[in-house]
This record gives sequence, structure tokens and C-alpha cells, in this order.
Amino acid sequence: MNLKIYNSLSGEKEEFKPIHENNVGMYVCGPTVYSNVHLGNVRTFMSFDFIFRSLQFLGYKVRYVRNITDAGHLTDDGDVNNDRFVKQSRLEKLEPMEIVQKYTVDFHKVLELFNLLPPTIEPTATGHILEQIELTKKLLDKGFAYESNGSVYFDVLEYNKRGLNYGELSKRNVEELFANTRDLDGQNEKKNPQDFALWKAASPAHIMRWNSPWGAGFPGWHLECTAMSTKYLGDKFDIHGGGMDLKFPHHECEIAQGKACNGHEPVNYWMHANMLTMNGQRMSKSTGNYILPMQLISGENDFFEKPFHPSVVRFCFMQAHYRSVLDISNEAMVASEKGFLRLMEAVKLLDDAGSFQMNNRSLFDIKEWKTRCIAAISDDFNSPILISYLFEAVKFIFALKDQTASILEQDLIELRQFMKVIVFDVLGLKSIEESNTAKLDQAMQVLIELRNQARKAKNFELSDQIRDKLLAEGIELKDGREGTTYVLN
Ligand code: AMP
Ligand code: ZN
Repeated sequence: MNLKIYNSLSGEKEEFKPIHENNVGMYVCGPTVYSNVHLGNVRTFMSFDFIFRSLQFLGYKVRYVRNITDAGHLTDDGDVNNDRFVKQSRLEKLEPMEIVQKYTVDFHKVLELFNLLPPTIEPTATGHILEQIELTKKLLDKGFAYESNGSVYFDVLEYNKRGLNYGELSKRNVEELFANTRDLDGQNEKKNPQDFALWKAASPAHIMRWNSPWGAGFPGWHLECTAMSTKYLGDKFDIHGGGMDLKFPHHECEIAQGKACNGHEPVNYWMHANMLTMNGQRMSKSTGNYILPMQLISGENDFFEKPFHPSVVRFCFMQAHYRSVLDISNEAMVASEKGFLRLMEAVKLLDDAGSFQMNNRSLFDIKEWKTRCIAAISDDFNSPILISYLFEAVKFIFALKDQTASILEQDLIELRQFMKVIVFDVLGLKSIEESNTAKLDQAMQVLIELRNQARKAKNFELSDQIRDKLLAEGIELKDGREGTTYVLN
């Protein structure tokens, strides 16, 4: 079956033709590790996890590169005081690299919680400074960049003069861009406000700095992705992904850098994942409309009435196509939980199928159903359609349970095997009993019970010991009217 992918560059669904047969090179912009990832960030990474899993399911060998941005992502190109890492390190009284480490660990923990597979390569910006300096030199040599006060900027006007079409991805008109932007403070070392930093001079107080031919400084955000993607995937590769909000300027600038360096498009298929909204408003740290993944799972938040298991969250996300906006609300999560539990029950029923009526012709055409499932995956990774097909099978499985339908032995084996591959390997769901959080929960109930027994026996030394030792491990017990609960700190 032919795979079709919606390409943001052409604005069309195109047949996927990999550069090297049966192999896919995919680069996805990773997190900027200066604070905890929120649930919106998780959605984007989960969308690409599903795409990664789907490509593997379809038989491709995938080299999946997802970077860690640990330097250089300024909130404003023009002002070096806007380095996110330096700002956060002042706030938390930590070294910038301690900030990087802290939030990289958090990022990995969160993604593991939602059963995301690790990428095959996870490069960091700070580990590729030399490559970024080399690229900057190349762009200067070719006349696409200029030096100004120890910083180097990409010359957007020059790029366009040579007919290379800045704005092709985001469909922006450069003339309008030039006409509509004000010259912001601190940008006067640029020839034009649209020009973006390849290398930024560091002030003496700036700790994250490296030597370069232009003096001490640090690389620009857009350049790091060009450096790392081309290093591991070549100067032309198959797929580049990221959240919708990265289309402009980030990905537009990556295209410009690639084309200026090599004279051709750097990427064949640009893929953009759509945003997560909560109660109708885009999830973002700056507006305060956000929730951290652990807050949703522990139930410690003001938005949801109860805690939700990570697999329920994953199921909820998978019910929306990656290119659609997804809104989460209490009602949406409750409905997802119901659907998820029914799906899991059906999968379980397939394992203990003792009561099923066998040896009759199946009314459910397994082969045709499998073909449709594969077609949904191949149609621009359509997870909601795939899930709707799964529920056709779920209905049939419950009919088998109720003995209102029957199945051939061979069909049952095929259904069981395919269902598990789609549910666990492609959609990446985990049954609640199987997952570690469920085990932790069971262990915690045992400890809470033991502590209650100690308290009843007035053995406060032991009960306090249980509480304090758990606290030292980052697990806080909370005594309330309804009994004792716990939160992970
Ligand atoms: P950042 O660490 O800010 O670079 O963001 C990491 C990723 O999360 C990027 O690909 C963003 O596009 C994505 N992202 C940010 N906010 C949302 C949201 N509300 N929904 C989905 N993805 C988001
Ligand atoms: Zn990037």
C-alpha cells in the first residue's frame, strides 16, 4: 500500500518516496530544556512517536533524530539578555548546564511515562558548536551572511535577490514582511529586521560562550537544527517535523540556510503537528493555560475532576489526527477513559477466548478489516480512523463474548495478533495493569495500609519513618478526609 504524507511545503498530500528505498531519515525539533515540558509539548512529540512507530510498522528502517536545544534559543534575536537558559539559571540559582540537565531528565521521564520510544539519535546543540561555526563560515563565504559587532546574521534580502524565495514554507510574502516590521531596539546591528542570527556575540557576563572566528559567542537557534540534521541525515533528507508554531520563522530559516549552503531544498516532506488546546484555548506557559503531565496524572490540578492514567491520555491524543487541533477538557478525558477501558477489555477477551463459539464462518471479515487499518495508517497517519476501525473489531469481540457471533480458529489467531500489534506497537498504548504506574500504585496502597496499621498500634516511630522515607524518595503522603493519598514530587 502506498504511503501518503501531507507536505506542508506543497500544501498537498503526496505519495511518499524515500530517498533510499525502505529507509527513512526523519528529523524532529526537540525541546528547549529550560523548563518543564507541558502537556502541549507532549502532544507534538507523541504525534511524531506515532509517525515513527507507523513508519516502522509499514516496514521502513527509520533513522529518527530528535535534538535537545540546550543553548542559543533566545526569546528575541536582538537581545542577548534574553537567553532562556541564562535567565532561568539566575532564577533558580543554578549553573545554565544544571538547568539543561534538570529539564532534560524531566523531559525524558515524561516521555517515558507516555510510552514514547527514544529517537535513534538525540544530539545536543552544545555538542555541535564546531559544525555550526563551519556552517556560518560557509554562509559568509557564499555571501549569504554578514558580520556585525561580533555577531553573524543571515541576509534575507540577499537570499531573495538570488531568487531563493524566503517565505515558501509559511507562505509569507517577503515584501510585506519587510514593510510591516518595525526596527526593534537592539536590532540595529542587522541590515534588516528579518535577518536572523547565525552566531551571536556574548557579553562578558554571558556564561554559555564558545570561541569563534568572530569572537566569543554562541550559535543561533535555527542553525543548530540545520547543523544536526545534515550531520546525521545528509544535506537532503526525507522528513522534517515539528509543532505548527515552528513553521515560521524556525523552519523557514532552516530551509533558507540549507538552500543557501547547498543550492537545493534540504527536506522532501515537511510535517507539522497541530496544537493542543485546553478548554478551547491554546496550551502555553506564557498565558498560564497549561498543565504539566504529572499534574494530570496525579489529579493535582484545577482543571480536571480526577486523575487520568498516562495510557488514557495517550489514547485521547491518538483519537485526534496529528494535523487537527485537539482540545482537552474534563468531559473529553472521561470519554477517552471509557473508550480506552473498553478497548483494553476487548484485547484481554481475545486472550481468554475460552467461551467463544469456534469453527464457524466468521461474520467479520478479518482480512478486509486489516487492509482498511493499514490503509488508515498509510493515509497520512490517520490515527482517529484507525481507532474507529479498532472499535468495529471491539464490537465483534464483545459479540463473541456474548456468543451472538462465532469465529474460525485461524481468524481468531490473526485478529488477536493484529489487534495487539496495532494497539501496543503502533498506537503505543499500555494496559493499566501492565504499566509501572499501576504497579507503583499497588505498592503504595500496601505502604499506606502498613502505615495505618502502625498508627492504630500507636507505633508512631514506624508510621513517621514510612512517611519520611517516602518523602525522601520524592513521594509525599497526604492525609485527607477520604483517607491517605500520595503525590510524586
Ligand atoms: P519548545 O520547547 O518551546 O521548543 O517546544 C517544543 C515543541 O512543543 C515544539 O515542537 C512546539 O511546537 C510544541 N508545542 C508548544 N506548544 C504546544 C501546544 N499547545 N500543543 C502542541 N504542541 C506544542
Ligand atoms: Zn529545530
